[in-house]
Amino acid sequence: MKNKIVSIVISAYNEQDNVAELYKQLQKNLQKTKNVDFELIYVDDGSSDKTYVNCLALQKKDERVKIVQLKRNFGHEIAMTAGMDYAKGDAVIFMDADLQHPPLYIPQMIELWQQGKEIVLTKRVDNVATSGLYKFCAKTFYFILNKLSDTKVLESAPDFRLLDRKYVDFLKGFNEQDRLFRGLLSWVLPKENVAMIDFVAPERFSGESKYNFAKSLQLALNSILQFSVKPLRLATYLGLLSAFVAVLLGIYVFAEHFLMHNPTPGYATIVVSVVFLGAVQLICLGIIGEYIGKIHMEVKKRPLYMADYIEKTAKRGRKNAEKDI
Ligand code: UDP
Ligand code: MG
Repeated sequence: MKNKIVSIVISAYNEQDNVAELYKQLQKNLQKTKNVDFELIYVDDGSSDKTYVNCLALQKKDERVKIVQLKRNFGHEIAMTAGMDYAKGDAVIFMDADLQHPPLYIPQMIELWQQGKEIVLTKRVDNVATSGLYKFCAKTFYFILNKLSDTKVLESAPDFRLLDRKYVDFLKGFNEQDRLFRGLLSWVLPKENVAMIDFVAPERFSGESKYNFAKSLQLALNSILQFSVKPLRLATYLGLLSAFVAVLLGIYVFAEHFLMHNPTPGYATIVVSVVFLGAVQLICLGIIGEYIGKIHMEVKKRPLYMADYIEKTAKRGRKNAEKDI
């Protein structure tokens, strides 16, 4: 019987010193699997360093290496999408290029898939190096997201996972520009045939994280906007709250004036009320504006990315196909 194929999709943005080490570790671990062949899809997300050249060098040695070269930096979520689009495997494993997703766990993921699991997720168990502040921010983010969203997004579930072809094809049906893979996955997550592996993420092998505080915050806000319209309702609640406060204030002013014969000095109250109401209105406009911005971007239905696909085929040499999706 012909072996099944597993595609390993690796997103790499300025990871020149990591791609070869990852390949080495993959080589070592993939040998431990049985009855399965691999294709290794390195997605170069518009790197400005030698990531692409180093991937080409790997491809020279091993024709299982395929490269999706994005024409500029499109971001991690789109890089994963591009890798998924080009993957031909019966299952696809997604992982980072910086070795924080240890290849050591791949044989176990594949074994679970061969036993019938259709999705193998991983859960990052905090290591000693994970800072208290990071844990607090992550917890708060997932708490808010899950309170606001109808789809429960898995906590501590990094983008290191195996998906059966069935789910890959399903996920390819999502066309939104602004996407959070773990959220989309939560949307399709079945009750059965899902396995979970715990792992401790090591420090990245080389280079620096691409996510600073501002980028993480932006991702967090985007995720909330993508999965929920509840913030829009906030406008209604704030309006009701302001009306309630206004009524209380009115009763107070009325009582002061007519019962205690002590007219309330107006200046401070007026300034505070005007500023408060101004702030409420700006917040509401801001929230509505965020949603309109998202609609504006999504209705254009632009291609998600532009990429070259580089594959070494035995007879025809290198195939270089340009594709817009
Ligand atoms: N990455 C990417 N495009 C980007 C940013 C990151 O493909 O615009 C890749 C990056 O090369 C890495 C993975 O996504 O393989 C996760 O990024 P990073 O390690 O910086 O995130 P962290 O692990 O610090 O959350
Ligand atoms: Mg990392």
